Amino acid sequence: MIVMKFGGTSVEDASAIRTVAEIVKGRAKKKPIVVLSACSGITNTLIRCAELAAAGKEKDAQSILKKDVVDRHFIIIQDLLNNLGHQDALIREINGFHDEISHLLYGISITGDLSPRVLDFVMSYGERMSTAIAATAMNENGVRAVLMDSRRLVQTNSSFGKAEPNMKDTAKRCEAHLLPLVEKGQVPVLQGFIGANERGVTTTLGRGGSDYSAAIIGTALNADDIEIWTDVDGILTADPKLVANAHRLKEMSFQEAAELAYFGAKVLHPSTLLPAIEKNIPVHILNSKKPQAGGTLIKSRIASSNIVVKSISYKRGITVLNISSARMLGSYGFMKKIFDTFSEHHTSVDLVTTSEVSVSLSIDYTPSLEALVADLEQYGRVQVQHNKAIMCIVGEKLRSEKGVAARVFGRLKDIPIDMISQGASEINITFVIDEDKVPHAVRELHDEFFSNVPAKSIFE
Ligand code: ADP
Ligand code: ASP
Ligand code: MG
Repeated sequence: MIVMKFGGTSVEDASAIRTVAEIVKGRAKKKPIVVLSACSGITNTLIRCAELAAAGKEKDAQSILKKDVVDRHFIIIQDLLNNLGHQDALIREINGFHDEISHLLYGISITGDLSPRVLDFVMSYGERMSTAIAATAMNENGVRAVLMDSRRLVQTNSSFGKAEPNMKDTAKRCEAHLLPLVEKGQVPVLQGFIGANERGVTTTLGRGGSDYSAAIIGTALNADDIEIWTDVDGILTADPKLVANAHRLKEMSFQEAAELAYFGAKVLHPSTLLPAIEKNIPVHILNSKKPQAGGTLIKSRIASSNIVVKSISYKRGITVLNISSARMLGSYGFMKKIFDTFSEHHTSVDLVTTSEVSVSLSIDYTPSLEALVADLEQYGRVQVQHNKAIMCIVGEKLRSEKGVAARVFGRLKDIPIDMISQGASEINITFVIDEDKVPHAVRELHDEFFSNVPAKSIFE
């Protein structure tokens, strides 16, 4: 049994969904379970509608909802489905969803309150619409698809907006509800990104979370393979949006890919590999627009190679906090207090560097920066730097290779570097720069490490 996840661009319109149906049909013997994202752009549009409603612009929100969400799905239905009965049934279903979202927007505009819990509910419609349409299309194309509701399968905690699965409950539910279908030769189709807490309230796994859904379900059922179908040929040596001639990696280790995902490579949600690693399930990254492209295989053991750096990633929108205090000098317990404060504010820290009397920490997200800073100020002077980015280079060979840091920072000698971290995992070098320097830095480093890629290497 395999899990196949298709991202937003893979279900963006009728022709993309037709291709998905073909790809799934071609894998029928492998007993696939299909996980789908919302059609590309829909999650962003739903968020925008909710935010407009909260800002008192309900009319704008409703008109965007109709034009950019509802009508877009109607067009897909009309272009995609041959059977008029199927078309009518789906149009009725989307109209029902439209009514519900419309009422939600009205409620949000009246209260002016957009809680993470309500936002999760609003966002969930994206995946619910795409899967309803795609499951019907698959049936028309000879796949025995059965639409499922992931909220009955993926059990999470109540961290709305970034929920974590309860793997035990999820496994029980997947075994009870998915395995019998798979055994009968049917193909369950489920929503990525969404789940529900123990009281059945809708949650989401964080932006880009459909990858994580696929890994959760694959791990829960001990799948043979987890396939992530997207719009690029696999994991590349850098984001192709910044480096046009980036190379595809045929193989990566779990650790390499996990570091890349954690430090921003959007091609994989950062939590995706954790469950797969636990059960040693290989993960393939594949291109739904070019199914023959070969993709990237991520697994525990990879063939050794002489390539030192495999890929470069970046994460924008980073904030750096510098805390300085003479009290740090030679004292113990200081760091604990600082980290306790981050924990109390539900804020995870990416990079840490320390000196005699100061500590710098980088964060991606905090619910309230002012409140966090106010609490940290009891320990010293706090300086906040916005608009930063984390850059990360990854490769198993960094464990043993000398002189890589010199090449990295030599090449970037014109760019101010804020924090440097090397050695934590032994396979990455990570540092912080100004956000607006990212494209330049990525291109420079790509040129440094990949301009002389040997033929017939791990790249293509
Ligand atoms: P999906 O909607 O299929 O989940 P995403 O947009 O979330 O797709 O992820 C795919 C995108 O990730 C690519 O279009 C590419 O721009 C970006 N990306 C960033 N870093 C990398 C990388 N190292 N390799 C491949 N893609 C990358
Ligand atoms: N639709 C969700 C998002 O855009 C989840 C995903 O696509 O993976 O974040
Ligand atoms: Mg994604």
